[in-house]
Amino acid sequence: MPTNEELKALVCQAIDQRAREITGIAQHILENPEPGFKEHKTSRFVQEQFDKLGLPHKDDLALTGVKAWAEAGSRGPTVAVIGELDSMIVPGHVKAVPGTGAAHACGHHAQIAMMLGAAIGLTQSGVLRHLAGRLVFFAVPAEELIEVESRDGLRREGKIEFIGGKPELVRLGQFDDVDMAMMTHTTSSPEDRKIALSGTNNGLVVKRIQYIGRAAHAGGAPHLGINALNAATLGIQAIHALRETFRDGDTVRVHPIITRGGDAVSVVPADVRMETFVRARTTNAVLEWDRKVDRALRAGAMAVGAKVRITTIPGYLPLNNNQAMAAMYRVNGVGVVGEANIGPIAHRTSSTDMGDISQIMPAIQPYAGGATGTAHGTDFLVEDYDLAVITPAKVMAMTVIDLLAGGAAKAKEIIGTTKLPYTKDAYLKLVRSFAREEEWEE
Ligand SMILES: [Zn+2]
Ligand SMILES: [Zn+2]
Repeated sequence: MPTNEELKALVCQAIDQRAREITGIAQHILENPEPGFKEHKTSRFVQEQFDKLGLPHKDDLALTGVKAWAEAGSRGPTVAVIGELDSMIVPGHVKAVPGTGAAHACGHHAQIAMMLGAAIGLTQSGVLRHLAGRLVFFAVPAEELIEVESRDGLRREGKIEFIGGKPELVRLGQFDDVDMAMMTHTTSSPEDRKIALSGTNNGLVVKRIQYIGRAAHAGGAPHLGINALNAATLGIQAIHALRETFRDGDTVRVHPIITRGGDAVSVVPADVRMETFVRARTTNAVLEWDRKVDRALRAGAMAVGAKVRITTIPGYLPLNNNQAMAAMYRVNGVGVVGEANIGPIAHRTSSTDMGDISQIMPAIQPYAGGATGTAHGTDFLVEDYDLAVITPAKVMAMTVIDLLAGGAAKAKEIIGTTKLPYTKDAYLKLVRSFAREEEWEE
């Protein structure tokens, strides 16, 4: 029986042999960015890659998701290696698609390639027969919470229930056969060094807000109108007035945008629309600020006599990285990049639907470097594909070996000892309870 180190060497060798092909996958996806739930070309491309590897796969899960699997030599738990299919929308980005502005400004193109790189390493190196359990390679849609209005439309049409890919896949039962999950996100922050192991991330709810006033001639008869834009700006100011009461430990983030500000400059705005997230470190803090933000939004309507419609949509739960899995990932990361290149564990105030997965099974989302610029900015680019793709592919594949070698003893131990906040049913009940619609007028 080969040792774990021997198995890891075989896997890394298989990845190295096909390194150019694997980084080429990332570069191909970079040139063909598609935002969430619309990743049709990317999804087909991933299907082709799984076909080349001879892996069976299920397609069009939560519209565009692709899930492949491979059986190890004996029975055991299922470990999923995840990559996210979707791009951002950043019109000024150097790789943005003219017109739509779709661009990989968050590094998800590297994620799909590293997931496929891990699949190549684990399934083409001959190590599978020495492992116990099942591997799932999962290309998942729609991690970026953008295009809220059109996704809310899909939700109202019944095409999706949740506006993020992973919650939607959980609802559809596509994580029912997965016992633990991992992915690696790209980072451009120098303080993250080459590999960083995040501890926790903020959770969030999403709000669509519509202020309804009354149109009138803006010059001739503004006294006959009700200015919905003034109501909206007062609502935003009321949120600002609450900021001094945010507790530091809750890491609250509320960042509204106006998506429709008026229809013609000579008309008193009667239909003004906004979107915001309400983020915080714990689910309780998200719910506390969810209510307070609504109160502030009502105040804007109250002041000018407008009406406000607030639609609250479940977003993502906070991410809790499984520390036993993170420790394994760290050791393997040290093996590839060295101790000095491992970044610190910290709380992050951004959010991810990997958070939802981490509430129902042991899960991790560490970070790998190789990118420069600002995440979600016009200048975010992967510069070092070896670090951004090949390194995390190896580290994830090696972590899978640690979990599933020796009769999957480590995986079983982690599954047996991790106390999870929710079962799938309790999770779904909780996130469904966040959804509501309110129309308020004094
Ligand atoms: Zn992002
Ligand atoms: Zn991302």
